Amino acid sequence: MTAWTVRIAVTVIALATVDVTPGSSQQGARGPGAPVLYEGARLILGDDRPAIDSGAFVVSDGRITAIGRRGEVAAPAGANRVDLTGKTVMPALVNIHAHFGYEQYLTAAGESRSENFTAGNLRDHLERQAFFGVGSVLDAGSGALQVTQPFQADQAAGEYPSTARLSLMGGVVPVNGGPDHILIKGTRPLKANYEVTLSGEGRAAIQDLHKKGVKHVKIWLGDRGGTYPAMPHEVYDAVIDEAHKVGIKVHAHATNVRDQKDALKARVDLLVHTVQNAPLDDELVHLIREKRPYYTTVFGLGDRSEVCDQNPFTMQVLSASIIADILATDCKPSPNAAKREEQLRQNFAKMIASGARLVLGTDAGVWPRYSFGSADHHELQRYVELGVPPAQAIIAATSRPAEAIGLTDVGILAVGKRADFLVLDANPLESIKNTRTLSRVYLGGAQLNRDALLTQWKPAGKTAARP
Ligand SMILES: [Zn+2]
Repeated sequence: MTAWTVRIAVTVIALATVDVTPGSSQQGARGPGAPVLYEGARLILGDDRPAIDSGAFVVSDGRITAIGRRGEVAAPAGANRVDLTGKTVMPALVNIHAHFGYEQYLTAAGESRSENFTAGNLRDHLERQAFFGVGSVLDAGSGALQVTQPFQADQAAGEYPSTARLSLMGGVVPVNGGPDHILIKGTRPLKANYEVTLSGEGRAAIQDLHKKGVKHVKIWLGDRGGTYPAMPHEVYDAVIDEAHKVGIKVHAHATNVRDQKDALKARVDLLVHTVQNAPLDDELVHLIREKRPYYTTVFGLGDRSEVCDQNPFTMQVLSASIIADILATDCKPSPNAAKREEQLRQNFAKMIASGARLVLGTDAGVWPRYSFGSADHHELQRYVELGVPPAQAIIAATSRPAEAIGLTDVGILAVGKRADFLVLDANPLESIKNTRTLSRVYLGGAQLNRDALLTQWKPAGKTAARP
């Protein structure tokens, strides 16, 4: 064959492969289940290795079985071929902090109710994550295990193929403490968190999580300006000590300098939030250097919503009614915005320079204006606006969060890893906003039917809690 006829043949096969039914991307010219050779795309691998400009990889049985430069990766016998020339492929994102199950997209002010917390609503939220290219998530310690654990088992058995894979985190709180004033309306009636007063109760809570196979726990430090009960020092010391004895990682909500220092001295593994009300002092910087915690910024919860700026990427999954409510009630200019931004900029740069290990988290699930999936791209964009090079921002959203939560099979493109990957129309190494040029999402080698998901959300006006 001449080069020209090869090109035609590849195009015809590629078209046949693209035109698939939901969840059956490997159906194509050579039949379902055949290996697929994806070739021609720039490959961003998710870790420190340089991108491959014109790459190729093979997916078989949901895993990557070969990867390299185009022309150096052989197509296995019977393989389908997909031409991705001009595209960029990167690993699906990994988000280690969002609150699944409560949100219902009804009011801009956010609505969290225990009766929303069903397998159907979890599925909806995890489909929203997947739609935007997030392949794996960690619940941020607010989910009710009596619902999330059976969901997780069903998901592992293949019941929810269009969802981001869910990992679980428990929450240990003082009585009537923990999640914010919106979320707590959902969590408390479900007894989603362990409420403890004494150190022994904290240790017992950890033992219970350990028995249930949960590998992460969240604690909330401080009293939020006197509005919340604070967990006593000796109680969280006991919680952390017990957690580390049984291999559970501790994530700490800590929003001011004192709480972040207390958290690090008590040896938490991961800091949630960025100090915004004061500069970091030398002692905190020293602690960051010494402990090198994982650190998720969750900036976007306090940022001006992209909906306010009519951003179509963010608005595409929201109904007209919720968009109207956000625009009407939630877009007033904040008098402190410039000051907050400057403090964030300084503190974030100091955290990174001191060795804090940035990992993607969003805190989505509280308000619809900052919601599952689109929030992940907002955080990525903010990292770069605040000085992180795009390649490092991508690592912070792929391999490093996978490492932080102990997922060994996702976050990078390499042989043996799950085929969770994104096909982008433009290169995010040139502009991080290009993660939004998402044209296809593959989870475990199967192409997500994003159009079907979109039509399920857009006209509905809301997500009714499904049984
Ligand atoms: Zn949170």
